[in-house]
Amino acid sequence: NRVFLLAERPDGRPDEDTFELAERDLPTPGPGEALVRTLYLSVDPYMRGRMDARESYADPWGVGDPMEAAVVGEVVESNGAGLEAGTVVTGELEWADYATAPGTELYPIDPELAPISTALGVLGMPGRTAYFGTKEIAQPTAGDTFVVSGAAGAVGSVAGQIAGLQGADVVGFAGSDEKVQFLEDELGFDAGINYKTTDDYGAALDEAAPGGVDAYFDNVGGPITDAVFTRLNVDARVAVCGQISQYNATELPTGPRKLATLVETRATVEGFLVGDYQPRFEAATRQLGEWVQRGQVQYRETVTEGLENAPDAFLGLFEGENIGKQLVKVAER
Ligand code: NDP
Repeated sequence: NRVFLLAERPDGRPDEDTFELAERDLPTPGPGEALVRTLYLSVDPYMRGRMDARESYADPWGVGDPMEAAVVGEVVESNGAGLEAGTVVTGELEWADYATAPGTELYPIDPELAPISTALGVLGMPGRTAYFGTKEIAQPTAGDTFVVSGAAGAVGSVAGQIAGLQGADVVGFAGSDEKVQFLEDELGFDAGINYKTTDDYGAALDEAAPGGVDAYFDNVGGPITDAVFTRLNVDARVAVCGQISQYNATELPTGPRKLATLVETRATVEGFLVGDYQPRFEAATRQLGEWVQRGQVQYRETVTEGLENAPDAFLGLFEGENIGKQLVKVAER
């Protein structure tokens, strides 16, 4: 039974010294707990924040402690957890082959309904983030132009499609030609912009969205966001979901820089956390499931094989190595 520990706090970009793969005995479930064998584990950008000592909405990991992750796994043993052995569940577990959790924090998933890995992506936290950020904060309606950064990722790819379902024109920023093709050909975006081969984001936006931007779903921050801000329309809505371009920064650039636009446009900029919508998770997941079943929302997963490769999968998020949801496959069901 292997488990990743936080070996040290990274300064800037994490690297292999950040992680330690340790061996430990199989944990024994306490009363009300179950032992779960990990099948898939999710690596997510917010985990970068948990590596720092700073208090935030997710508690910092202690140095030397197991790293946590959303997992899909199989119940191996239940100690009054109310779950039969063999049940496929999702929950907050660890970067480990096996871990225990209280039965009340493990949620059974139906393998007949959708591939079990989707509980970590389009039908899990990232899908729900896209759902609430788009429907509640960015609020695109028919005829609007909706722009999303990090567009080919787990959250962005779903956000853009939801905006399309509301009748908006959808433009996405992503980091490769392959990703732009994925947005335009598979997800039905009206245009994709490869920000790594484009020097002038503003000019690229003027071409892709000549009428300006009514709603912006920001996963990335930095210069892409600067360019979008100067092209916001009157009463535009900006949903600040994440700022991944800043997560490894040791010094933050001064800013926000383009706020004069907000005076002219009376635009609204609002940050949000998916966790605040917990009471509505079930309804959101049901809606996402229907869209997926009807083929109205497509999803892609990038699957890295082997627990030992989880750090690479995590670090790849900051290099844009994933298309859609980045997962680690730990074991066969
Ligand atoms: P993604 O699947 O989108 O993976 C991260 C992507 O970010 C990469 O694929 C890469 O794509 C892009 N990226 C990395 N570095 C940069 C950079 N410097 N500039 C521009 N793009 C970059 O991750 P998620 O979908 O899981 O998360 C997306 C965002 O949503 C993150 O900021 C995350 O923190 C946030 N989030 C917020 C939540 C909330 O409740 N507010 C909940 C969940 C996620 P590319 O090739 O395009 O560069």
